[in-house]
Amino acid sequence: MRQKITLFRWRSMLFTAAVAGIVAGIFFGYPRLGAAQVAGANGYTNSDGSVIDKPLSAVLGWALSSFWAGLPKPPAEHVQGYHFPVVCDAQGVAPARPSELSVTWIGHATALIRINGTTVLTDPHFSERASPLSWVGPRRRTPLPYALEELPHIDVVVISHNHFDHLDEPSVLALVRQSGGAPVFIVPQGLDRWFTERAIPTVHSLGWWQTYTLNGFEVVGTPARHWSGRDLTDRNQTQWSGWVLRSGGMSAYFAGDSGYSADFAAIGQRLGPFDLALIPVGAYLPRDFMADQHASPTEAVMIHQDVRATVSVGIH
Ligand SMILES: [Zn+2]
Ligand SMILES: [Zn+2]
Repeated sequence: MRQKITLFRWRSMLFTAAVAGIVAGIFFGYPRLGAAQVAGANGYTNSDGSVIDKPLSAVLGWALSSFWAGLPKPPAEHVQGYHFPVVCDAQGVAPARPSELSVTWIGHATALIRINGTTVLTDPHFSERASPLSWVGPRRRTPLPYALEELPHIDVVVISHNHFDHLDEPSVLALVRQSGGAPVFIVPQGLDRWFTERAIPTVHSLGWWQTYTLNGFEVVGTPARHWSGRDLTDRNQTQWSGWVLRSGGMSAYFAGDSGYSADFAAIGQRLGPFDLALIPVGAYLPRDFMADQHASPTEAVMIHQDVRATVSVGIH
């Protein structure tokens, strides 16, 4: 009996590992059916011309070693696993008068920023899973402090890139239906097509260093070190960005997803200093696999210094 249970456990673990490998392969765009396109003129690259492009063996090795090592580990050193308190004010998200700046971290890369009377949402994700399928894929670890319907009217949404943990279709469609009308979606180059295909006309795409202005409120696209892709054919066919928000002499910087690079010093020089920065600090292990796409905690502090932020919040 015990042997049977052990055998069953091994089989189910191997099955889970195999599924994890396949899902990871799909998520990272392997086999890359669009490889010929990516190698051509239409594929986006990092600012130094590099492309994050790992062989299938490395992707499968990462998926299996993460599975066996139980990565990502819960943040047990400072708090009890993932069960840290979720602060949620009965009055709703942090208020801000017209001349003020406030931020409410909603979870992962989703934050609500109020800057001089404009309400901005970053990478809105309110679904249970970051996945093309509702029943499989990475699951939310901590509850949302606020449902999407509890938020004030959103004027502008910025999207950093098209990975499923940053571009969530149900959340985008719910925002389009918010009372008072759809927000303006500011997206990286090439990603506007995803919106127009869904009959969302209030979308503007911007390249790095380009600016969009709305009633004195400015959004500027900034470079990031990352990649894009939602299926087997679209690897790096849309750009990835960070965003700078400026209004009334105040400024905030949302870094999106990024590995550490010289981009941050350039952003600090050209557009800093910032009153507030949202800097990604998650999914950084194992380093040999993640370093070129996700910053470590040490690198997040370097980004804080490079961009010259007064206050930074770790996200993702
Ligand atoms: Zn990403
Ligand atoms: Zn991400």
